[in-house]
Amino acid sequence: SKPSDELSRFLDSGIYELPNSNAVFIDPVRVLNRSYTRFRVSPSTYYSRFFESKHPAQESNPSSNPKKRKRKPKKQPYSLNEKEQAAEKRHQEAAPSLLKAHESLLAAADFPAIMSKIRSDFCSSVELSGGEEHFLIELGKVWQAPLYDITLDFKFSGLKNETENRINERRVLPVFNNLVVNDKPEDVEAEFLNRQYILPRLSCFYMIIFIMSYMFLYVLSLIMLKSDLGQIRNIIPADSDSGFNLIVIDPPWENGSARQKSVYPTLPNRYFLSLPIKQLTHRGGALVALWVTNRDKLRNFIEKELFPAWGVRYFSTIYWLKVKGDGSLINDLGLFHHRPYECLLLGYCNGNEMDSDCLSELMPIKDKHIIMSIPGGYSRKPPIGELLLEHAPGVKPARCIELFAREMLAGWVSWGNEPLHFQDSRYFETV
Ligand code: SAH
Repeated sequence: SKPSDELSRFLDSGIYELPNSNAVFIDPVRVLNRSYTRFRVSPSTYYSRFFESKHPAQESNPSSNPKKRKRKPKKQPYSLNEKEQAAEKRHQEAAPSLLKAHESLLAAADFPAIMSKIRSDFCSSVELSGGEEHFLIELGKVWQAPLYDITLDFKFSGLKNETENRINERRVLPVFNNLVVNDKPEDVEAEFLNRQYILPRLSCFYMIIFIMSYMFLYVLSLIMLKSDLGQIRNIIPADSDSGFNLIVIDPPWENGSARQKSVYPTLPNRYFLSLPIKQLTHRGGALVALWVTNRDKLRNFIEKELFPAWGVRYFSTIYWLKVKGDGSLINDLGLFHHRPYECLLLGYCNGNEMDSDCLSELMPIKDKHIIMSIPGGYSRKPPIGELLLEHAPGVKPARCIELFAREMLAGWVSWGNEPLHFQDSRYFETV
C-alpha cells in the first residue's frame, strides 16, 4: 500500500508530527542525513545502544548483561528531602503531558511502519572498537596541539567525466583554536593524524585546546570566533553584523555519574557564568536553548544566577522523551533518578537593536512541547536545531551556533573541545 503523506514526509525529513498534540517523533539519523550529500550517518553506530545486538557479549546491550541489577523504583514520597520534593513536583507537572505524547505515538497509524523502517536501517553487524572516545580531548592537552594541522580534500562530484575520487582542492589548516570552514555545498573529507573525518556542507568548527579550569580560554576563543565571523559569511548569510540568532548549549554539567566522568570532563556550575552569551547574540536577538539535568539544585542555579548573568529571559521548556526500538520508554516515568526524559530550557537574549516589547511579539512556543526519539551514544542529544529555527528572532536564515558540540551540522558553527567527535568516518557510510 502507498505510505501516508505524513509517513513519506517523515521518510524525507526524519520528523513526524503527531496528530492533535504538541509532540513530534524524530529519527535523528534521517534528520542528520540532510546535512550530507555524499555520505550517510550509519544508523547502526548511531543506535547501537537501543537496538538488540547480535553480539550478546556486547556491553551496550543492557538486557544481556547479567551484572546489571534491575532498578527498583524508589519508595516515595517519604524518602524525599526538600530538593527532591521540588524536583518531584516539577516532574508531576510534566508527567501527564509526557504520558499523553507517548500514548499518541503508540496510537499513531504510521507508528508500526516508522519503527519497522528504523529497524530495517539498523544492521547489528557493525561493531565500534572502543577506547577511542577520548582521542580529541586528550590530544588537546598535549603541548604540540597548536601545531597540528587538518587536511581538507575537496572533491567535486559535479564534474561527471572525471574519476569519482579526484581531489580538486586541498587545504591544510591548524586544527585547534582555529575556525575550520567547509564553505562548499558538498561534504568534504578531512584527515587529521591518520584519522578520517566527514565535514557536512556549509559548516564549520572551532575546536578549543582543552585546559581544564581556564575558563578565560573559552571566553577568548568565543570572542575570537565572533570577530572572525567575517570569514564565514558564505555559510551564514546575514547582514553585515556578526553574532548569532540561535545558540544551543549542552554544558558538561557535573552530575556524579561515573559513566559520565569516564566519557568527558565536567565543570562546576560557576564556570558557565562567564560564557559570553550576550556578546555572541546577534543585534536582532537570539533564542538560547540550554540542555539541563533534572536536579533541582541545577534548575535553581539556572533560574536565579545563570540566565540572569547571561541576560537570558526564560520562556518555555521542551521535553525530550526517550524511547527504545520498540517504542516503549527507556525507563519507567516514575523512576526518580532515572527519568526517561531530559529538558531543554528556552529563553531569549535581547540584541542591541531590540526593545523589550519586541520579545513578546516573537512567535510563542507552546510550553511542554515534547520531542520523542531513540537515543544515540551516551549523552548525545537529538538534532533539534531545525525545530528551533522558526522560533529564532532576527533575520532569516538565522545564524546558528552550538556550544560544547560533539558534531557538526550544515549551516552551523560547532564550538567545543571535541566538535569532530561524531564526524569520525567510522560513524558514516558512503551512499
Ligand atoms: N551535546 C553533545 C554532548 C555535549 S557533552 C552531544 O549531543 O553529543 C559536553 C561536552 O563538553 C563534551 O564534549 C565535553 O568534552 C565538553 N567539555 C568538557 N569540558 C570542557 C571545557 N572545559 N571546554 C570545552 N568543552 C568541554
